Amino acid sequence: MKEKILLHICCAPCATAVLENLRADGYEVTGCFYNPSIHPWKEFKRRLDALKEWAPSVKLPVIYHEEYPLEDNIKMLLNGDNRCFSCFSDRMKKTAELASEMGIELFTSTLSVSPYQNHKLLKEAGKIAAAQYDILFAYMDFRSSYKRSIELSRSFGMYRQPYCGCVFSERDRYLKVKSPGQI
Ligand code: SF4
Repeated sequence: MKEKILLHICCAPCATAVLENLRADGYEVTGCFYNPSIHPWKEFKRRLDALKEWAPSVKLPVIYHEEYPLEDNIKMLLNGDNRCFSCFSDRMKKTAELASEMGIELFTSTLSVSPYQNHKLLKEAGKIAAAQYDILFAYMDFRSSYKRSIELSRSFGMYRQPYCGCVFSERDRYLKVKSPGQI
């Protein structure tokens, strides 16, 4: 029997190559879209819709969290010492909670395909969330598949976003500076 894994999906382009890898490794994958930090709402909706369009074509079941608690999210990003760690922690906690409710003992994230994310912070956030729900975070370094994710997303004609997600990353992208969780 295939091992089940819950995959936190930050966006459809990143999910393409990660799904390919996980299925090649024999996992039964379910997706979880939870990314309330994406700003503005139109951008959030655009990424959500891109995933909704693609997932059925590869028979990927996805649980969508479409709530958009803007005030809470901005407070969360402003509060911690490192907003990217807060953002990763929030997303990993929600995914771990869902995995636990679904009886899935393992989860991971498409964030690990990006060479621009801070993998050390992601790993730490995932491990803390996993411990809270007594399940396992599978840190998998998919960075070698980043180019493949670009190829696949282009072949599907997907929308590819120009910045990580939050309003700070949108500013940083155009001012050409790094967000705290970016490398
Ligand atoms: S740059 Fe990305 S990871 Fe960091 S807080 Fe913004 S959306 Fe989250």
